[in-house]
Amino acid sequence: MILEVQGLTRYFGGIKALDGVDFRLGQGELAGIIGPNGSGKTTLFNVITGIYRPDRGSVSMGEGDITGLPAHEIARRGIARTFQNIRLFRELTVVDNVRIAHHPHVRYGPADALLRTGAFYREERRTREQVEEYLSIFSLQDRRKELAKNLPYGDQRKLEIARALASCPTVLLLDEPAAGMNPSEVGTLMEFILRIRERFSLTVLLIEHQMRLVMGICERLIVMDFGQVIARGLPAEIQRDPKVIEAYLGKPVDSAWGTKSGNR
Ligand code: ADP
Ligand code: MG
Repeated sequence: MILEVQGLTRYFGGIKALDGVDFRLGQGELAGIIGPNGSGKTTLFNVITGIYRPDRGSVSMGEGDITGLPAHEIARRGIARTFQNIRLFRELTVVDNVRIAHHPHVRYGPADALLRTGAFYREERRTREQVEEYLSIFSLQDRRKELAKNLPYGDQRKLEIARALASCPTVLLLDEPAAGMNPSEVGTLMEFILRIRERFSLTVLLIEHQMRLVMGICERLIVMDFGQVIARGLPAEIQRDPKVIEAYLGKPVDSAWGTKSGNR
């Protein structure tokens, strides 16, 4: 088990944003979280990544308890994420956005940098190559010199994932990575997600409204409503689960899984 959440609960004033959430992710798994707006999906990511502390419950990674640790410490343990509302350094170039995220892993000291030792040059080259790989995976090489804010929307989403990858995570949390993408961009994104999982041996958990994406690539789904997990299982099972359909639209089967989204 690489990530395990038990009894996770978080209030905001009178709202129970998370209400006793349990789940486990195995090494290398690709799982999806779905659920109506306001069901607590983003809060779950915020609590796992240390942005908010839980009121109750625990988060553990591998053997270690990471509940309530500061966000930078959780990142250091190997959990990276993207945000539902894109958060890039808008005034920096594409390549600098990725380079900055990669920096903490550079293995030379200040003395190496000052004296320009062999270790310094080797690390610099390694970093450059690694950054190039992240850019090329997402077909962003030709845009490397552009400011992040000038990228088309779909490319900004890809850059966010490239940047999350650059921190060398073992677990990647993606919060609505396909939001605002057109169908062909969604198709490409699905391929990217599968490719990076393979290449970097990642465990991936993704929140998504686009049913084509979750049904197409997730091996397992977790469904949330009002801060609770109301269903879990294989995508095909979930699709037929009356509780899930009810949560989405309060309507019987067929109409619930239309083409666009599960937003309510
Ligand atoms: P989802 O991502 O599933 O749409 P969220 O996790 O963003 O849902 O929100 C779950 C509930 O918690 C909502 O009612 C939301 O308004 C509330 N909430 C989330 N974050 C905060 C916050 N920082 N302050 C107050 N309420 C919040
Ligand atoms: Mg959300």
